[in-house]
Amino acid sequence: MRFTSKLPDVGTTIFTVMSRRALEEGALNIGQGFPDYPIDPRLAACLVDVVGAGHNQYAPMEGVVELREQISAKLHTCYGHRFDPHTEITVTCGGTEALYDAIQAVVGPGDEAIIFDPAYDAYEPAVRLAGGRCIRIPLAPPAFRFDWDRVRQSLSDRTRLIIINSPQNPSCTVADRGDLDALAVLIRDRPITVLADEVYEHVLFDGRRHASVLAHPELRQCSYAVFSFGKTLHATGWRTGYCVAPPLLTRELRKVHQFNTFSIVSPLQYAIARYLAQYPDAWVGLAAFFQAKRDLLAGRLRGSGFEPIPAAGSYFQLVDYGALSGDADMDFADRLIREAKVATIPLSPFYAAPPRMTLLRLCIAKNDSTLEAAAARLCEFAAASRKNR
Ligand code: GLN
Repeated sequence: MRFTSKLPDVGTTIFTVMSRRALEEGALNIGQGFPDYPIDPRLAACLVDVVGAGHNQYAPMEGVVELREQISAKLHTCYGHRFDPHTEITVTCGGTEALYDAIQAVVGPGDEAIIFDPAYDAYEPAVRLAGGRCIRIPLAPPAFRFDWDRVRQSLSDRTRLIIINSPQNPSCTVADRGDLDALAVLIRDRPITVLADEVYEHVLFDGRRHASVLAHPELRQCSYAVFSFGKTLHATGWRTGYCVAPPLLTRELRKVHQFNTFSIVSPLQYAIARYLAQYPDAWVGLAAFFQAKRDLLAGRLRGSGFEPIPAAGSYFQLVDYGALSGDADMDFADRLIREAKVATIPLSPFYAAPPRMTLLRLCIAKNDSTLEAAAARLCEFAAASRKNR
């Protein structure tokens, strides 16, 4: 058979690869970002109730209206603006579908999208499938700050999209209001749309507040903002996210969504709607919850040779293993799976051209006992490798 791949250089995502390797080697998995603790039993009960009540047929293409109304109320509380559930909110299959649909809606053959390295791995393949190409601008470690001058120099007549992600996966940094202002100035009067991946909107540490494009009067007029109940309700397997955008952008997104997934699992939507109606502030404790986990893991690792890098948000913690080894991160991560029995995520797959660095991403959305056990294994591994040096 003659077949030409459209994505010849794309393999299996690093998250799937590392989770698979963790299973093969019987390693503790603190790589892929998902909780290992249960969801709120009241949310589980809502799901059982709505299935029993007969919510088992197609949901409307744009999402169950009860859920979109709850989302609208939540957005008003969080970002001080009322979004119309009918024309501005679409329920999607996780954040990933929202990202894909928005990219297909905006990018056409020959167009350019600006993304920031280290970039979440779903952006570039979607841009390429749309016929576009990514201009990748590095955020340099250890601070991973935006260089807006460089962004300005990278704009061209073909630039149609800028994808930002805050809190950022995997760097654990956050954009502030000044970053959003700089972005707004750059794209003013240009045919450029913003795609803001804000799935970790509630996980910011040390009193920081999330700067959402939806709270920015100028940016919210030209942005798709992507959110995830998987992250907010600790239910990544529910694959339920949503996209918020002005009516014109939402109309274009739905043209893609209706032929991609058409509509999202209806009992999950009814269950989340019912749960949010009963517990409208379900997300309020999330920052403190994850900050305690960050502090637990970072505290155990500090001084071990796996040096924690300051983390401002997201449910990850970066560590630098440079004191222990100069090995490439892919090799070192695999060695950790085999020898320390701990699975992590190396950073180089998030780059087009990875700089020299010795960083691994650890997921903090785990039981304290998992984090403690993983930290103990890493400390033991570090002590042994220091002795053998
Ligand atoms: N968002 C998850 C992470 O960053 C991965 C999801 C996936 O495996 N595609 O770890």
